[in-house]
Amino acid sequence: MRLIIMGPPGVGKGAKSKLLIKQYQIPHISTGDIFRELFSGDYEIGKIAKSYVDRGALVPDDITNEIVRQRLNQADVQKGFLFDGYPRNIEQAEALEQFMKDKGWKIDAVFNVQADDNILVKRISGRRVCKTCGAVYHIENNKPKVEGICDLDGGKLIQRVDDREETISHRIKIYQQQTKPVISWYEDKNLLVHIDGSKDINHTNEQIMKVLGEIN
Ligand code: ADP
Repeated sequence: MRLIIMGPPGVGKGAKSKLLIKQYQIPHISTGDIFRELFSGDYEIGKIAKSYVDRGALVPDDITNEIVRQRLNQADVQKGFLFDGYPRNIEQAEALEQFMKDKGWKIDAVFNVQADDNILVKRISGRRVCKTCGAVYHIENNKPKVEGICDLDGGKLIQRVDDREETISHRIKIYQQQTKPVISWYEDKNLLVHIDGSKDINHTNEQIMKVLGEIN
């Protein structure tokens, strides 16, 4: 299975991705996670990416596409994958299409998870992540057992710099302007599956599983 999950920031793509990668035993390719991993090392490219990510802007396409191109050459993704957060504009969608052609592969489905903007802001501003393992919590909906501490490894929970209130609206705006056209692009190719992200996670999971049953 070669899948893509799309949706505005805060819609819960991460949680839904977990379900998909478990079901299909495919690797998760999150460009956001790749950039955050690059920050923690002393890489020039990580510093450049951070300057965009922290202010809620898209990392330039040449960097992003090259990272994806290299990732697609790694052994674990040869049989399938789930892209999360890529492609995020038409140029990236075209680059991905070319990568697929070069490999003789095709995308099987694109999930578009939707929710209202007011839900998104609430979800993102309350999000906290473990500084060490990256596990995701929410201060109201998904609290850790001990406040501020990760259940999994005892790491400190922090707020991502780009999850601060002043940056969220900018990320949503970029999504509306640049990423939404990608949704229509995949719709025209008959690959798009709409998922309601405002319902609870079990309901969303059910919708996803039903659609995947039909694709298989
Ligand atoms: P979210 O979906 O909540 O915005 P991500 O982890 O997917 O979170 O992305 C975080 C940030 O990483 C984005 O705001 C952007 O700066 C950068 N980023 C991730 N994917 C891409 C991409 N495909 N193109 C450009 N920038 C990206």
